[in-house]
Order: sequence, then structure tokens, then C-alpha cells
Amino acid sequence: MTNQPHEPAFFGPLLLDFWNQQYEQSGRDNRPMSVEGARFRHSWAGWCARRIQYEIQNREGTRTFTIPARPPADRWRLEMGTIVHDYWQAALQHALPDATIEHVTQHTLDNDDISAGHGDAVLTHPEFGKICVELKTRNGYGYKTDIGAAKSQVPEGPASTAKRQGALNALAEDADLLVILHISLEAVGPNQLPQPLTGQQYHHRRMTAEWWYTKEEYTEWAEHELKRVSKIIEMTDAGKPAPRSVPELMPPGARIVNPVTSQWKKEVDGIVVGTDVLWHGRYCDYCPFQEACEADG
Ligand code: SF4
Repeated sequence: MTNQPHEPAFFGPLLLDFWNQQYEQSGRDNRPMSVEGARFRHSWAGWCARRIQYEIQNREGTRTFTIPARPPADRWRLEMGTIVHDYWQAALQHALPDATIEHVTQHTLDNDDISAGHGDAVLTHPEFGKICVELKTRNGYGYKTDIGAAKSQVPEGPASTAKRQGALNALAEDADLLVILHISLEAVGPNQLPQPLTGQQYHHRRMTAEWWYTKEEYTEWAEHELKRVSKIIEMTDAGKPAPRSVPELMPPGARIVNPVTSQWKKEVDGIVVGTDVLWHGRYCDYCPFQEACEADG
């Protein structure tokens, strides 16, 4: 007897394929923009500029290459996050009946184009004023790194993508505070919480953590993103490829030079002054345009 999983598998693939087919037929892969005619979705905030450009081209039907269909396992991963997200959003609406959930937000970009999104919740608090809440589900490992329960014990906080998306929604609402609320899909063990957060009073931290940002803090991120997106749209309309650059994860001026290995380089006067890989070399693996990007150069 061996503990190797049986191959060829039968039941698992049968169920996954059935679920995947149902999902595809539901049309949920192609959700419309929250504002008709918008060219940028706030949920793309903080992404690689080239990826945003590919998304914009897709919206306009000008893409000339084929995107591989999203693998069912990735679709499942995303859908689990969405289900839990919707569950918590509904709970928030019950716990805070005055909150507005799924509020539509928008900005006018430099070139009079529109960026649009949905904020998860907006409410007014007597002490803190207007608060925009951005709710993110996290997998167990991601959550541990967020709160400092992973090996390094240094909390990394929310991803720059979440901060930028939340900032765009908060700026559109002129909120006093932006709160990014993380819900983990798996609870951290009580003894894994970073010191000194031990004991019953911190039980919530095993699966939820939140970060509060002032208007001054979030406005800086939102304004930077709006400028960046305006530039990407300008390049798209001019038929120029957008740079393979990712804000905050790489130094300014650095470019991803290999979408297979996610390696970036920064050059000054033809001399390489910095190089590394993003997400241990896996950053581009999550991009649906990886093949096209490699072919386009
Ligand atoms: S494959 Fe990487 S470099 Fe290319 S568009 Fe996607 S994220 Fe950007």
C-alpha cells in the first residue's frame, strides 16, 4: 500500500469540472464595470502597468492574442474568497444597519476618462467621521504574514493593491478614514499569534485584523494611482506598450524583464543597479496575460 494519491483520479476532477462548467455558464468571469463606459476598474489598482493595459484593451475588444482560460483551481480559490467576502459584507450590514454596502465610486482621470469601483461599505461614526471599509479575504499563510504570525514575526500589513483600491474608493467618498479589514479563510492557532497578543482577549486576531489610515495617508496613494492610470490609458491610446512596472513592490524605474521568472531589473545609464524576483518568482504566474506578455516583449 502507498500513500500516493490514486491516479488517474476520477471523482475530484468530475466534480471540479462540473462546478467549473456551471461557473462559466453563470457569466461571472465578465462582471460589468460599475459605471458604464469606465476604462479602469478600482480593483485593478496597484497591478503591473502592462497588465492594466491588457485589461483596458480587452474592455475595448482590441486584444489580438488569446488568453488561456482561467484554470478551475484558480477560479475555485477566487470564488471561495468571494463567498466569504459576501458573507461578511452581509454581516456588516446587519451589525451596522446605517452602513451603505457596495457603494459605487468613480473618478475622472486626466484625460476625462472614468475610473470606477465598488467600495465594500461606507458609514458615518460619531467619533471618527466618515469611514470607508475595504474588506479582503486572505488565505491562512497570507494572513499570517499580514499580522506578523509567520516566521519573520514582522507584520507586513495589507497589500499595496488593497491600499490603493481602498484609497480610490475612500477618496471618491471624501472619507475621513480608510479601514482595510482582513478576514482569514483559516484561523491562526492561539499560540501562533505574535507576542504579546496571547490570551482570550485577542481571540479575534486569530482570523481578523484591520488597519486604519487617515485621509492624508490614503490620499497620497489614490492620487499616485490616478496619475499612473491616466498615463497607462494615454499610452494605450497612443499604441505604446505600458511598462512592466509594479508600484511599491519594485524601486521606481525598475522593470520586469522576464515574465516567466518575475525577475525585475533597474538600470541607470545602461548599468544594472538592482535586480530581484517578485514573490519568490511567482508574481507573473498569477497574471492571465503571462504568455502574451512574454510574446510581446
Ligand atoms: S506577465 Fe508579469 S510583467 Fe507581464 S503583464 Fe503580467 S504581471 Fe506584468
